[in-house]
Amino acid sequence: MRSLYGKFVVITALIMFVSGLLAFLTVNTYYHQQLKGKNDEKNMKIAMSIASFIESTKELDLDHYLKTQAAVGYKLYVVDEKRNATLYGEPFRVENLTSETVDQVLKGERYHGMRDFPSETFVTGFFSNKLANTVGVPFQHEGTSYALFLRPDIKMLFTEVHKLLGGMVIVMAIISLLSMLIVAKKLIDPITALTVATKKVGEERFSGTLDIHRSDEIGQLAKSFQRMTEKLSENDRIRKEFISDVSHDFQSPLLNIKGYAELLMDETLTEASRKNYAQVIQSETERLSSLTKQLLLLTSLDQLSSPLQLKTFSVDEQLKEVVRKYRWLVEEKELSLSMELEEVTYTGDPAFLEKVWENLLLNALKYTEVGGTIDVLLTEEPDHLIVVVRDTGIGMDESALGRIFDRFYRADDSRTQKSGGTGLGLSIVQQVVKLHAGAIDVTSKKGEGSTFTVRLPKLS
Ligand code: ADP
Repeated sequence: MRSLYGKFVVITALIMFVSGLLAFLTVNTYYHQQLKGKNDEKNMKIAMSIASFIESTKELDLDHYLKTQAAVGYKLYVVDEKRNATLYGEPFRVENLTSETVDQVLKGERYHGMRDFPSETFVTGFFSNKLANTVGVPFQHEGTSYALFLRPDIKMLFTEVHKLLGGMVIVMAIISLLSMLIVAKKLIDPITALTVATKKVGEERFSGTLDIHRSDEIGQLAKSFQRMTEKLSENDRIRKEFISDVSHDFQSPLLNIKGYAELLMDETLTEASRKNYAQVIQSETERLSSLTKQLLLLTSLDQLSSPLQLKTFSVDEQLKEVVRKYRWLVEEKELSLSMELEEVTYTGDPAFLEKVWENLLLNALKYTEVGGTIDVLLTEEPDHLIVVVRDTGIGMDESALGRIFDRFYRADDSRTQKSGGTGLGLSIVQQVVKLHAGAIDVTSKKGEGSTFTVRLPKLS
């Protein structure tokens, strides 16, 4: 029995059987301990009143009288001095009365067969249809001694009330069994649905919603599962998109390199064109190289297995160093760059954070036109530091702002496209900031400039 439902059915049936058995044993024990004696006493009284009626009534038609008693619900076994036995009422299943017992009763003793009936585990004496399970009394009739053995006729004892009660118990048992089966089905159906859904997810099929609307634990499980599936589906979509973006971003520089390399093979080419083509190949190679480096960095950030290499270092020094590195670009574009840096020491991963400042500064440099202004600010607050990179560049509109941290996203702007960026820089920035439990904010207006604010909590 491997299904949960099957187990439930078997266990329910088993519980009903075992509880029925235990109930029977309890009642049987109670009968043997308590009721047997009382029952004997009651029947002894009846037997004695029959005997005394016979003895006190003159000219009684004994046979007729005993038949009448049998008709009202008794089994009577009458033995005379000559051991002639007559049965009135339904026959006994076993006639196991010993001749000594009969003799004793004929001699005037009383027989308490019901009280002395041996205890049997699975037979309630009450129902045992044996001749020994009777009470016996002596009586005299027309000068002859008789022994009268009597017990109630079980069939007659079962009145309509007993049938009604018995029927009630059976109907109750059937209804409760059926209800349990229905309840079990209702409980198990959503689990089956969840199992099917889990298999589908295992095969990377994320479509479809779970039709489970409950507020209990199973409902909560279904909701969590649904959320998990949605997340997995979203991740799957991002992964596929990422692969297609990566392929595309590698494909175009490779095509360019191939095309210009073919052109270079032309021997009639002028020196100027040759130089020009070689430059294109060089810049495309550089682009591929930076793309690969950035991808490697992003992947290592995504799968960071070892913790950040934490060091305490001076952030203002690091920022100055980064600006120094790109000073030539500032001068080339005739930009004015100002720095307002408080002296701040911070514990974080300096190598990764350098990438953050580098990407923000490079973006400001790339997207600010000749003569523009760039400000780099560093301030310290009690529990965190703030770095702001502000430019008066081309800015972004709302829709671009919402997507700049997406991998490979580059605003659909001719100046952006010309910049030769990869669309990975800000994804790296965001990832590093997240790893330092920080946050990054952007405000920007198209044509007016952008401000990137990084907040890093001081790690303890
Ligand atoms: P890219 O390599 O293209 O610069 P990023 O991830 O660094 O990739 O930036 C994503 C996009 O965000 C850029 O293509 C650009 O459109 C926009 N962007 C980033 N920084 C700025 C900025 N300072 N001013 C205007 N646009 C910016």
